[in-house]
Amino acid sequence: MTTTLAPPATIAFIGLGMMGRPMAKRLIEAGFTLRVFDVSQKAVSDFVGAHPSALATASAKAAAQGAAALITMLPDGKIVRQAVLEGQDPAIEGLEAGAVVMDMSSSNPVDTQKLSRDLAARGVALLDAPVSGGVKRAIDGSLSIMVGGASADLERTRSVFGAMGKTITLCGPAGAGHALKALNNYLSAAGLVAMCEALVVGEAFGLDPGTMVDVFNTSTGKSNATEVKGRQFVVPRNFAAGFTTALMAKDLRTAGDVAKHLKLKMPHLEQAVSYWTAADGKLGKGADHTEIFRYAEMLAEQGD
Ligand code: NAD
Repeated sequence: MTTTLAPPATIAFIGLGMMGRPMAKRLIEAGFTLRVFDVSQKAVSDFVGAHPSALATASAKAAAQGAAALITMLPDGKIVRQAVLEGQDPAIEGLEAGAVVMDMSSSNPVDTQKLSRDLAARGVALLDAPVSGGVKRAIDGSLSIMVGGASADLERTRSVFGAMGKTITLCGPAGAGHALKALNNYLSAAGLVAMCEALVVGEAFGLDPGTMVDVFNTSTGKSNATEVKGRQFVVPRNFAAGFTTALMAKDLRTAGDVAKHLKLKMPHLEQAVSYWTAADGKLGKGADHTEIFRYAEMLAEQGD
């Protein structure tokens, strides 16, 4: 059975974190019927308290029962594999043949290729569909969604993606979306570190950081970091972008692993992996990724 999904079709949603919450909310507002699960019982009860039409469930398996599609918005692909296939009460035990799993987490594309094969053997299709745009664009439903998988599976789920994102791009077969997402975040992370180092040096020289960001934004130094993170989170030092350093470091390692898997030497990427992994250790649990500015300041103090 491969019917097109339209409201009020039932969707299982697993992972009600910073991103999952606003994405699941968009689906409810679009008229879909939601069955939700998160290992955090508080995350589930808070969500169902705010959206009483959603059904709270106690496992991935229970969430999957009767759902035409299952969305995962989890920290990484290893956790996705546990939730969908190998953990306790995994979704596969509740899903019906013909269902589609949409992994919107930023997972490792090589693991995704394997998960796609393993799910296909059980009659379940997989689309990898990671997102870019952060919490703000999850709230207003304008995420960029990078899809890997079969075009027929994208077509039947397009209205589901359409409730959460504005740009939906089929990038290639299984894993293609996750590969592109990791590479996108490499660019995003590199731009952010470059901005932070420039701000630290500029400030030490006597420049005003706000003025610096304004000038970058009308000059060739402009980037996503200068446009949506400089004045918003770094200059005022509120560091409230809603995406952790740990998750960014994981994305960098994913990009590095893809290059290694393909036996490609990428010195700058390797350095970015080390830099973000060290920053994650130093900044502490839960640190926002824009706190990489504080890490740049710490390293700067070690100069002669
Ligand atoms: P988060 O840590 O806020 O949320 C993850 C949620 O998953 C938590 O509620 C956690 O309790 C739940 N969870 C963990 N293990 C589970 C399991 N086994 N079963 C069920 N639930 C489980 O993370 P987030 O910021 O929402 O990010 C989610 C994914 O989206 C990550 O892969 C991240 O890299 C990616 N992403 C995040 C952003 C962002 O701005 N935050 C942007 C784009 C992509």
